[in-house]
Amino acid sequence: MENLNEESIKNILKDIKDLNVNKSIIETGTLSNIIITKDLISIILVIKHDKTLYDNLVKQCEKKLNDFNDLIKYNIVLTTEKSNSNAKKESHIKDGIKPEKVKHIIAVASGKGGVGKSTLTTNLAMSLINKNFKIGILDADIYGPSQPRMLGIKDEKPIQNQNGKITTVDKYGIKCMSIGLLIDEEKPMIWRGPMVQGALEQLIKDVDWGELDILFVDMPPGTGDVQLTMSQRVSLSGAIIVSTPQDIALIDARKGLNMFKKVNVPIIGIIENMSYYQCPNCNDKTMLFGHGGAKITALDMNVPYLGEVPLDIEIRINSDNGEPDKIFSKGNKKSIPFDKISDNIIDFIKKSSNEKENEPIIIFE
Ligand code: ADP
Repeated sequence: MENLNEESIKNILKDIKDLNVNKSIIETGTLSNIIITKDLISIILVIKHDKTLYDNLVKQCEKKLNDFNDLIKYNIVLTTEKSNSNAKKESHIKDGIKPEKVKHIIAVASGKGGVGKSTLTTNLAMSLINKNFKIGILDADIYGPSQPRMLGIKDEKPIQNQNGKITTVDKYGIKCMSIGLLIDEEKPMIWRGPMVQGALEQLIKDVDWGELDILFVDMPPGTGDVQLTMSQRVSLSGAIIVSTPQDIALIDARKGLNMFKKVNVPIIGIIENMSYYQCPNCNDKTMLFGHGGAKITALDMNVPYLGEVPLDIEIRINSDNGEPDKIFSKGNKKSIPFDKISDNIIDFIKKSSNEKENEPIIIFE
C-alpha cells in the first residue's frame, strides 16, 4: 500500500474499457477520482446509465487490482453526476447559521437515546485533535447534556468576553459549549419549542468558537422539532448517524437518516456502536446485539458506512469519567476504531471542500 499513489493506480486501470461506449475509462471520464487513505483505496467511477450496465466494468477493475496485488484493500464507488437536488442543497447551506471562522458544522445524531452518540462525538473529536484538526463540540442535547461529564468539565463555567460573546470551555484542545455548562443541573428546566430553537441558535451565534475545522453538534436523540429546525436553520456540512446493530435501533436510525435527507443535509454516513464485544482474555468476539446491521442499512439506503466501535469497558469508564485522553494515550489500541472513522470524516470534508460534483450512491467491497 505504501508505494501506491493516484498515478500508479490510474496506470493499473488505464486500459479498462467502458464496454457501453468501447472507450477507456480515462477517456470517457468514468474514472473520476482515486482516494487513498491509510488502509483503503477508493476508486470513484461516474456512471451515466443504470448501474447494472457497469457490472462488467466493476469486475474488470477488481480483476486488475487483484492481479496487481491481491492484498490491496479497495472499494469501488459508483457515483452519479450532480443532480438538481444537490444544487438546492448548496443554496440551503449558504443561507444557514454558521460562525464565520468555522469551516464545517457536522451533526452527530441518533434515532434514539443511549446508543452512544455523545461517547462517539467526544472520542471522534479526540481522534481528530490528535490528527491536528481544530475541533469544537456543541452539546445540543438540551434534555440530557453529557459533554460536560464526558470531557470532565462539569464544574467549569463559561464567561462573557470583551466582545460580548460567551467563551467556550476548552479541554484536551477541544472547544466545548453545552447547555449543561450554563444551567444548574439540579434545577429542572421546562423547555418550550421556540425557546429551544432560540437557545440552540444562540449557542452557535453568540459563542466565541474561534477558528475551527469542524464543529460537531451532539444532537438530542430522535427526530422531533428540535432536530428538524436545527437541520433547517444551521448550515450543516453533513450528518453522522450513530446506531447499535439491533433491528429496533436501526429502525430509528433510518428515521433519523430520512429526516436529514428530507431537508437536503448530506449524510456523511452511519457508525455502528457497541458492534461486538472482544473478550480481553481470549480475544474472542461476541456479537451481543447482532452485528453488521448498520452496514446493511447503509448499503440499503445508499449512504456510506463509516465504521464500527466495539462495546468496551475502557471506552465506557474513561468516557463517563471525563478522561477520553486515556483511550488516546500512546500505544492504546482502543483508539483504533475511532481513528479509522475519523479518517473517513476527513475524506468527507476534503471532498466537500473541493466542492466535488459527485454523490456516492453504491459501494462495492
Ligand atoms: P447517547 O448520547 O446516545 O444517549 P451516550 O454516549 O451517553 O449515549 O452513551 C450511553 C452509555 O453507554 C454511556 O454510559 C457510555 O459510556 C456507554 N457507551 C457508549 N458507547 C460505548 C461503547 N462503545 N462501549 C462501552 N460503553 C459505551
